[in-house]
Amino acid sequence: MTTLNPEVVRKVVAEVVREVAARSGTPTTGDGIFPDMDSAIVAADTAWRAYLDCSMKDRARFVRVIRDVALQPEHLEYMARCAVEETGMGNVADKIAKNRAAAELTPGTEDLVTEAWSGDDGLTTIEISPFGVIGAITPTTNPTETIINNAIGMLAAGNAVVFSPHPRATKLSHWLIRTLNRALVAAGAPPNLIVTVSEPSIENTNAMMQHKLVRLLVATGGPGIVKAVLSSGKKAIGAGAGNPPALVDASANIEKAAKDIVDGASFDNNLPCTAEKEVIAVDSITDLLKFEMLRNGAYELRDPAQVARLVDLVVDGRHAVTDWVGKDASVILAALGIEPPPGVRLIIAEVPFDHPFVRVELMMPVLGIVRAKDLDAAMDMAVIAEHGNRHTAIMHSSDVNALTRMAKRIQTTIFVKNGPSYAGIGIGGEGYCTFTIAGPTGEGLTSARSFARRRRCVLVGGLNVR
Ligand code: NAD
Repeated sequence: MTTLNPEVVRKVVAEVVREVAARSGTPTTGDGIFPDMDSAIVAADTAWRAYLDCSMKDRARFVRVIRDVALQPEHLEYMARCAVEETGMGNVADKIAKNRAAAELTPGTEDLVTEAWSGDDGLTTIEISPFGVIGAITPTTNPTETIINNAIGMLAAGNAVVFSPHPRATKLSHWLIRTLNRALVAAGAPPNLIVTVSEPSIENTNAMMQHKLVRLLVATGGPGIVKAVLSSGKKAIGAGAGNPPALVDASANIEKAAKDIVDGASFDNNLPCTAEKEVIAVDSITDLLKFEMLRNGAYELRDPAQVARLVDLVVDGRHAVTDWVGKDASVILAALGIEPPPGVRLIIAEVPFDHPFVRVELMMPVLGIVRAKDLDAAMDMAVIAEHGNRHTAIMHSSDVNALTRMAKRIQTTIFVKNGPSYAGIGIGGEGYCTFTIAGPTGEGLTSARSFARRRRCVLVGGLNVR
């Protein structure tokens, strides 16, 4: 009699279960994690169809569930610690603040406002309706913040979402997707409204971009992935790189500008795409600005040889060296053989305008400072340094005309006046929060309505009561 190899039997059974599950749309795990992209997307599509039968009140309740899961104190702490551990980037305290902002300040169903026309010919409405299954690609720099933010907006708009997280944030992304799924199902939502694959990879992301059941792609990341989604042939929202300049004019409150810039540029070790990446200061106030920055936790590299060594360490051509992205300022100083002073948050260096600390999106607490002869020269430089990303710029000035002129010239999606950059995403500034800022495709600070279609219903000859 032939004996069967148990390992072969296990593999065949697993394959058959996967195949049947993929075809029938039945989840293999129930917690949103699938062995391959096709089964994840099929399950999300099944979930979306069931979600169509849920009421707006149900949707609002599910959004509340996502907020509550994220805001549990032990979850906030776990997400921040795990993100720092797994990605090797950022700091725990600021990640807690970012996750809290995503959970509390991302708009929900209230973002979907119906437009209506009524008259002799009847009543016409435009309602904000779901796309169906959305493919969302998330970055290492804000792994859980983006999932929380996108999940709230996308589910509020009635969609299901397949996440393609950065491979270097797999463990944490799985934990969050699993935890959200369990809580949503417990609250009565269809299973698998939020799904992903067990092994996120570029191949899996490509499979997602090509899948016929994915109706909208949302990419939050660098230029490579934004270009990829925009070339996919599908409707796509691209939230790409920034290189935000902070311009400081002679009319500014320099003490406050210095503190705001250090606070913004050191926030989560400079990981946010919105964070100050270089400073352009008018000559007459540059020394005072630097002096005040040093009083607020900045350390200045004055020796050109040290600056050159830091460039060698953290810059590779036109890119930052990944190993140094999001590291603490103290760790970077120690690598240069400098004893980090207590409480150091940011490294600054006065550099020429064409220096990598100005031109490269470093995403670490290292900030180039450029001296401009006057305000016009400073504006010219800020516009060039932003690279036409149309992302974020910051300006410190008490001259309303200068602020207006700069905002018109630089054309960024976010323009923060007299505050730290994070005020632009609702942290200490008015307005809602997002972690997907779509400059290239123009949705701007995305929210539920960005992840939706506008559909017109026309009732002829009735329901006009005017
Ligand atoms: P990244 O571009 O390396 O990765 C982002 C995501 O895209 C990851 O999931 C990655 O796996 C995937 N990816 C990248 N290239 C791909 C390709 N060719 N094919 C398929 N998948 C691909 O970015 P990161 O280092 O994780 O994040 C930092 C970058 O993202 C910075 O440039 C930052 O400015 C930008 N960012 C922008 C926003 C925004 O809202 N505009 C928000 C956060 C981050």
